[in-house]
Amino acid sequence: MDDYESMLEKGREKLPEDIVEGSRFETPEAKTKKRGSRTVIKNFSSIAKKFNREEKHFSKFLMKELGTAGHVDGSELVLQGNFRRGIINSKISNYCESYVICKECNKPDTRIQKEKGVTMLKCEACGARRSLEE
Ligand SMILES: [Zn+2]
Repeated sequence: MDDYESMLEKGREKLPEDIVEGSRFETPEAKTKKRGSRTVIKNFSSIAKKFNREEKHFSKFLMKELGTAGHVDGSELVLQGNFRRGIINSKISNYCESYVICKECNKPDTRIQKEKGVTMLKCEACGARRSLEE
């Protein structure tokens, strides 16, 4: 009985850290759909909102990275060409890393602002700032 209980204790201690660390920011996943010769990111707007970034800035990045053209249509981003979801998601996490997450504290509570003509990423959580290469 004692052994059983200590086993339970151990089991509890072994809970993976990412369950305990519920506040860790998770990169949102794109919901994509093929529409003829185009690829639609159906939840584009909500991802931009989660990142707290302008849709224009975010869509420009994705189109540049994917080397294609496209446009925002309502809450969707319509891209020319067919792209696999994995590729799109990897670009989204690149964006998140470069333009959203603070490198000091790993929080997404950041803002893009211009300082003396330089575009900076400023963290509201810890106050860190770094310049963004355009
Ligand atoms: Zn920070």
